[in-house]
Amino acid sequence: MTNKNFDQCTSFHIDGGAFLGRFVRLDAALDNILGRHKYPKQVGAVVAECAALAVLLSSSMKYEGLFTLQTQSDGPVSMVVVDVTSDGDVRAYAKFDEERINRAKEIRKTTGEIEAAPHFLGNGHLAFTIDQGKGTDLYQGVVDIQGKTLSEVALRYFAQSEQIETYIKLYLEEPKNNDDAWKAAGLMLQKTPAFGGKTDKNLNLDDAWYEALVFAESLKDKEVFDAGLDSENILNRLYHANKLVISGVKNYKFACRCSRDKLLNTLSSFEKKDIDEMADKGKIAITCNFCSEQYIFNRGELIKH
Ligand SMILES: [Zn+2]
Repeated sequence: MTNKNFDQCTSFHIDGGAFLGRFVRLDAALDNILGRHKYPKQVGAVVAECAALAVLLSSSMKYEGLFTLQTQSDGPVSMVVVDVTSDGDVRAYAKFDEERINRAKEIRKTTGEIEAAPHFLGNGHLAFTIDQGKGTDLYQGVVDIQGKTLSEVALRYFAQSEQIETYIKLYLEEPKNNDDAWKAAGLMLQKTPAFGGKTDKNLNLDDAWYEALVFAESLKDKEVFDAGLDSENILNRLYHANKLVISGVKNYKFACRCSRDKLLNTLSSFEKKDIDEMADKGKIAITCNFCSEQYIFNRGELIKH
């Protein structure tokens, strides 16, 4: 079900601009992404959490083009890819081994609680890339998957590479009924780099940062996923005393960028013998990893004479 208070990222700052924040909440976008795949619940949870992190991180970077979050690891979920375009289109998929997921569940013998993503990812790395098209440099950040939660993994990246003091917390709500969707959310705070203290002179930055984190930690899942509360309302509850300023709201939705023409272009560059290997009774069927759309080509379309 679509809710106007979700599938958005709200940007804000507090304490006269000393600290920047982002608050993301996703529901229908996730439902559309996961509805395209028949993933086991555990994989759905990992993808949902990665999607919230991808939207959070991409929203804090200036780019025109494509932001990609990708994990590569040796666990039961060996790969997750989430794409976020600068227009707010999100798509995602995962590679996983169902048998190993079931075994991992056995070992932990959990009582229905949602497992944090790193447990199913195993050892490996998480990478972010920004592709702004031809003639531009590819930006890439990489961090090892280490930590109990996906937020911890992301924070390691900021501590190691960006050296900007950062707070990230991700939230996940599993579907209660068959009709429900996964919900995921994230809150991010960062110290403004080289903040000159344009705010009132009495503000002690360390104390104010500590207070901002305490308030962030006070945010409960129940509020985050309350469909009746808009994001501004939630942020107001947290930071009304810290000179909260909402600086923007951006909408997100599921959309896949695959097309028959793009695939035709790629396949046309293949060698004849490779095409023949892929063909079954003269037809080549290709399924998009992201949206599960199937495209069928005739052998004759692909082989240049
Ligand atoms: Zn697609």
